[in-house]
Formats: sequence, C-alpha cells, structure tokens
Amino acid sequence: MKIKILILSLFGFWACNPKSNPALTDSTSTWPDFTPPQNIILMIGDGMGLTQISAGMYMNGNKLHLEEFPVIGLHKSYSYNDLITDSAAGAVAFASGIKTYNGAIGVNADTIAVQTILEDAEAHGLATGLIATSKILHATPACFFAHQKSRTMYEEIAADLLLTDMDLFIGGGKKYFDQRTLDNRNLIEELQEKGYVISDYFQQDFNDSLIMDPAFNFGYLTALDAPLPAAAGRDYLTSASARGIEFLQARSPENGFFLMIEGSQIDWGGHANDSDYIISEMIDFDRAIGTVMDFAKKDGNTLVIVTADHETGGYAINPGSTMDSLVTAFTTGYHTGCLIPVFAFGPGSNLFSGIYENTAIYDKMRLAFQFDKLK
Ligand code: MG
Ligand code: ZN
Repeated sequence: MKIKILILSLFGFWACNPKSNPALTDSTSTWPDFTPPQNIILMIGDGMGLTQISAGMYMNGNKLHLEEFPVIGLHKSYSYNDLITDSAAGAVAFASGIKTYNGAIGVNADTIAVQTILEDAEAHGLATGLIATSKILHATPACFFAHQKSRTMYEEIAADLLLTDMDLFIGGGKKYFDQRTLDNRNLIEELQEKGYVISDYFQQDFNDSLIMDPAFNFGYLTALDAPLPAAAGRDYLTSASARGIEFLQARSPENGFFLMIEGSQIDWGGHANDSDYIISEMIDFDRAIGTVMDFAKKDGNTLVIVTADHETGGYAINPGSTMDSLVTAFTTGYHTGCLIPVFAFGPGSNLFSGIYENTAIYDKMRLAFQFDKLK
C-alpha cells in the first residue's frame, strides 16, 4: 500500500484512453445506479466454460455454490489478435481493460506496460492479493502485477513482483525466485529485505495453523514449479482464500482490499481432454467460491465476481450421459471462442448483467471502486 498517484494518473490515462480500445467507448456512458463495495474479490476459473460448470455441478450432486449468485452476465473473450484468446490476453483484459495479443503480460499490443487494477488498488491505499493453483508467475496472476512481452518469461515476471507492494501472494513457482538462470538474484531474500514474510510448502503446509501476521506483507510458495492437481492432493485453495481474506481485512480495515483468486487448473484438464481432471478442479474451485461467499454474505461490503478467461477443450456433455455418469467429448486440445459466463454478488453486482467485452470487467471493477472519483 503506497501512494503512487502520479504513476497512476499517467498509466490511468493510457489504460482508459478510449482511442486505444474502441470497444470501451460505447460502454462508459450508461452505467446503472449501484452501491460501491469496499472490497472486490475477482475469482477466475481458467478455462471454465458452461460445460465445465455443468459437469462439475452434475458430478457434485447437482449443486454448486455458483448457484448462489443473483447476477449473471456473459463476456466476449476474444483477444486483440485472435478470436481464440489465451490466458495472458484474457487476464490483461480483466486486469487492465484492454485487448492485447496472446502471450502478453501486462502490456498492450505495442508491448507498452499498462496499469493494472491491482496497481490501481495499491495506489489508492487498498490491500491487495493474488492466490492461484498454478505458479504465481503463470499468465493469469502475472497479468495483475507484471509487465513483460511474453508469458514464458517467468524469471522476469518473478522479478516484477519486487516492483509491487502487493500485500499477499500464494501460489507455486518457487524456483523462479531462488534458482534463477537469468541472474544470481535470490528474490526470496530480496522480498524479505523489503519487509515480506515468505514461507513455502517445504517449511510448512498451508493450513489453519500457518501464521500470517498482518503487520507484514506475506508470500507463500506452494510448489517449486506448478502445484499438484487437486486429485493428487493439492488442497490449499479454500483455506488460502479464507485466510487470505482475513489477512487482507486486517491489513486494510478502512480502505478495503482487492483479491484475485484463480482456479488455474480447470484449463489444464481441458488441454489434457481429461474430464475427471476438469471436474475435480471445478469442484475444488467451487469450494473456494463457497468460502468466499460465506465471507461476502456476512460482510455485506464485498463485491464477488466469478468468471473465466475462456473455455478450454470444446468440452461437451453428450447423449447417453446421466447425472452421475457423463459421456463427454472434446473438439480441441486448445481454447475455444464461446461467450463466457460472469457471476456477481454484493454491492455493485448489478453492473455485471448483460453481454459485454471481457475488458468491461475491468471498467466495471474500476467504476465499482470509484477510483476515478475518490481521494
Ligand atoms: Mg491461468
Ligand atoms: Zn489454457
């Protein structure tokens, strides 16, 4: 949490300049009345299309926490250069409100850095956090704090974490911090010198007894590289979400917080054309949604948004399926271009009904936080 108003206004101008994104110009003049939330929790199920949701629901006794959301919309997921987006361009749309090329991390189509909603939130004195079941440097979380021309530049992306004042991060990728090939830096030590408390799966499991002292920024690395699938025993997403919320609230009792939580591996099940993988990841992500909703319902001051960057696999539930035994099929090992659902709950949720560009999710979050009006 640091004041960076000058940088904000410079980057804010670029990010909001309608000329850089014609799709935004028609959506900014007709906002409905809404109640501004104090906190926003954005939950991204990577690769989570309607079939992934349906399969997870049927195989979970025909029930998901997603059913608790009163407002539902749809977004158009295409990127700057491809009708079929990747997760990097998809995340830049949410994080910075622009369409960019596939593979871009926090940069526009000209590879110029664009301010992110997390950086906006930092500049306005909110607490911020990222939680993922991939490495924390993977495309989706990376687009909220890093600015690199390619998603494969994990060591550069890790170094970008040092340039933020993010209060909390939980995810994999430890080796890109302390076993680097690019340089001899030890980013874990550098983070500690900056005032972070850093822990990892090797020192202590992520569970309720893990100490997260809100006096310090906190990072926890869940794996050397990619975390395990849920089916192989990875189980931290729900507790990390609960503890993360508690931590961010304590970090910023007055200004509120922005938290992004990603169910990263629904996408990986789609790439593998593995229905069981998709379903176990979907149910794991929904469990985290349930925890977030328990908090948001009690709190009354938190906007929760659940969406995906794109669908993965061209996943289908075919004839011959029953509620507890699905006959599934796939059209591709990559992503597809269908409309993606958006679920919203809490103050400001009414902004999210309708059909809009993926970039509008950024516009709506920014509007909900009233970043252009306050302070
Ligand atoms: Mg992802
Ligand atoms: Zn993917």
